[in-house]
Amino acid sequence: MTTTATRQTLASYDPATGDLVGEVPVTSVDDIPAVVARARAALDGWRNLSAEERCAKIGAAGPRFLERADELGRLLTREMGKPLAEGTGEVKSCGYGLEEEAREIAAALEPESLEDTRTRTTVYHDAFGVCAAISPWNFPIAMPHSLVLPALVAGNTVILKPSEETPLIAQAYVDILNEVLPDGVLQIVHGADTQGKALVESDVDLIAFTGSRETGKKILASASAGLKRVVLELGGKDPLVVLSDADVDAAARFAAINSFRNAGQVCVSTERIYVHSSIADRFRSALVAVAESLPVGNGIEDGVRVGPMVSSRQKQHVLRQVEDAVRRGAQVVYGGTAREGNFVDPTVLWNVDHEMDIMREETFGPVACVQTFETNDEAVGLANDTPFGLGATVFGGDEENALAVARRLDAGMIGVNKGCGGASGSPWVGAKQSGYGYHSSKEGHRQFTQVRIVSSPKK
Ligand code: NAD
Repeated sequence: MTTTATRQTLASYDPATGDLVGEVPVTSVDDIPAVVARARAALDGWRNLSAEERCAKIGAAGPRFLERADELGRLLTREMGKPLAEGTGEVKSCGYGLEEEAREIAAALEPESLEDTRTRTTVYHDAFGVCAAISPWNFPIAMPHSLVLPALVAGNTVILKPSEETPLIAQAYVDILNEVLPDGVLQIVHGADTQGKALVESDVDLIAFTGSRETGKKILASASAGLKRVVLELGGKDPLVVLSDADVDAAARFAAINSFRNAGQVCVSTERIYVHSSIADRFRSALVAVAESLPVGNGIEDGVRVGPMVSSRQKQHVLRQVEDAVRRGAQVVYGGTAREGNFVDPTVLWNVDHEMDIMREETFGPVACVQTFETNDEAVGLANDTPFGLGATVFGGDEENALAVARRLDAGMIGVNKGCGGASGSPWVGAKQSGYGYHSSKEGHRQFTQVRIVSSPKK
């Protein structure tokens, strides 16, 4: 999608067709202090409710997401491009079990009692204050939700600044919650980096951000002046290591789906593939076979599995990396051809190496990049040769051996013979420059709170 901010309006275009989908008013930077003041005025009323009351109010929005899932799924796909089933599923994921999800978060924030021989202490997890939630476009309703929900349950008031690429679905998200929330508890600021920057510099207390490493660094630098709490979920360059005894078909299927899903625009996409040389030929055939089976097109149409890139800028970024890799000796074994519009075919590159941008910088496109290795030590060295550390995956037949390789990978979330996501209750966490703080899990939810202890003598 392309968006342009002109005369206080942000226009949102369909990345598959170029059609205008809709417009929202841009928030003037001069208005941001008043938005923050409104959030601060609403803070006491919201945080003084019991957690139970907050969960009940938030939970009341759940059915509305489900009732409107088809309409909003369409809007999401038209705005951002992903296949309709995925867009609708994303909307539903905000509604299903919303109240239970809120209660799970609230349970992580309940006071805890500690005592030793002389002292009794209660540990509280209180609202932190006014939270700025700044989100990306690749999961344009799920990403705002992952920041807004824990912040609200903890008793914070929230100002969401969604991506300028997907303002309409974010506005719909806020409108649904505002049918049930008190005034001022959740507000939205529309715009691009200028509005994001102004919000970070404003009188907010906590900044919860999901987006690129570059923007994360800017936010951290800016927040340092006020020593504001910052939680950053950043980009990745996830490796997949396929060991010599792996189930080649399963590994290739995983590689293809995880490289091409959402046209590769996923923070935990497989961005680098290291395959043992003894199985490389079989892996290549299996990977290409899956790539061939994925229809590319407008996500609104039946059967499409790979939609457009979100914008022509994103398409050009991906094609530049592919061209650089080819210039430096990579072989295109599938795809790689330029298409009209914002589409990029699923592409398989062979014989890549770490001299190439495509193995060092985030691609965020439907490209599977394969390099072979001879020893597990070599594979671990290559996988860890990056400043990123979000997810990683190992495929191997001997599970103990695969788990041992997994433990040597310097990432926050590592999957063995599966994707990197953990069991329910696990954190969503990046290591190295992929994260600064983290979400989900008891500890993740607590990052949206101020911890306080109150102690008294033990009688
Ligand atoms: P981005 O960093 O360009 O923008 C993210 C948000 O920050 C947008 O709302 C943008 O307007 C705002 N922004 C831009 N400059 C700002 C500034 N100086 N101050 C404050 N806000 C500013 O990222 P994007 O292109 O929207 O999203 C893609 C990136 O997000 C990828 O790097 C991807 O890996 C990452 N991501 C990470 C996760 C995760 O869980 N770790 C999840 C989804 C996406």
